[in-house]
Amino acid sequence: MAKTKTIRDIEVQDKRVFVRVDFNVPLDENGKVSDNTRIVAALPTIKHLIEAGAKVILASHLGRPKGQVNPAFSLKPAAEELAVQLGMPVQFAEDCVGSDVEAAVNALQSGSVLLLENVRYHAGEEGNDPEFAKQLGSLADVFVNDAFGTAHRAHASTAGITAHVDTNVAGFLIERELAFLGDKTEEPVKPFTVILGGAKVSDKIKVIDRLLEKADNIIIGGAMAYTFALANGKKVGDSLSEPDKVDVAQSAIDKAAEKGVRFLLPIDTKITNALDFGSRSVGEVDVAEGDIPDGWEGVDIGPKTVELYKQVVAESKTVLWNGPMGVFEIEACSIGTFAVADAVAANQDAISIIGGGDSVKAIKNSGNGDKVSFISTGGGASLNFLEGKELPGVSSLDTI
Ligand code: AMP
Repeated sequence: MAKTKTIRDIEVQDKRVFVRVDFNVPLDENGKVSDNTRIVAALPTIKHLIEAGAKVILASHLGRPKGQVNPAFSLKPAAEELAVQLGMPVQFAEDCVGSDVEAAVNALQSGSVLLLENVRYHAGEEGNDPEFAKQLGSLADVFVNDAFGTAHRAHASTAGITAHVDTNVAGFLIERELAFLGDKTEEPVKPFTVILGGAKVSDKIKVIDRLLEKADNIIIGGAMAYTFALANGKKVGDSLSEPDKVDVAQSAIDKAAEKGVRFLLPIDTKITNALDFGSRSVGEVDVAEGDIPDGWEGVDIGPKTVELYKQVVAESKTVLWNGPMGVFEIEACSIGTFAVADAVAANQDAISIIGGGDSVKAIKNSGNGDKVSFISTGGGASLNFLEGKELPGVSSLDTI
């Protein structure tokens, strides 16, 4: 597979470098950045470009202003936070295209930074309008994409712009995503264990299908497991399941058998006779082995399954995890998910990759954030990438 070019591979001295970052940060009631994780994550790329003498132009979206100017979604607070993080001034432009922006870009000194206003103030961004993409591209000699979270979307500032700029490369964040979600699962150090959970088989079946080619063990948890249980002729009571996807589940089980991949399903299940997501509460709780009775639903993997999964994770050299083992938002149903988080973090001999979404929350909330090899910054993007789907924000970049 061709390798995506990165900022390591190019000269940027005195060049206008347009960087698509992910500054989609939460703001508090005073309009200040309340969590700067994404800004901090972009610092290595920004600092590298400053030190290399580039004129750094940053662009991002924030929230969903739906193609309208809306001060509630302004990136100005992000400019202030970035200035604090960099310890230097950050200029801010009130728009991302137009004559004022062009003037600001033309006046930009090498080694200085300009943040443009929210690209989603223009409908052309999400519509990937060629004219809007051209206007963005006219600001740049070099395009750098470092926003993995939107790389699965073909928007003007993530993909369309590349048609109008000669040099298009990845920043350090995307480089790391490609290395871990791509290279390390493409040619994994074995044994390679994939842990998949979450609500639906239909959301994850393409990932299962692709990783069945690479994995030694596939571990299934979450409500997904009940559709596999149906395929195995079990009863699942009132559990969340997809009876119309039983054939899909069955073909995954068959393919695993064909390929000699160990396909692990829960051997016991924590069940309840009442679940109220709104008040985060459950009624009576029990553990079922085999069939789940009517009037009861599965909400987590059971204690024997926890032990089994922990053992398989401990024996692995590469672990990829995406999706919770149960309704982990409710404490009584979160034991399996947090046990998996602890097990993945405890195996320091393995390359551990957390593939986005709820698993990232579980790893961080369990205090294991710094004990794993890699945490993906993209939910939908990481799932698409693991499915082997082309990401427009990556495939439009130059390759070596
Ligand atoms: P996903 O977005 O597909 O990764 O699914 C995540 C959601 O699946 C979480 O909100 C969990 O609460 C939910 N989930 C996991 N296990 C179960 C279960 N046994 N029953 C109902 N929902 C579940």
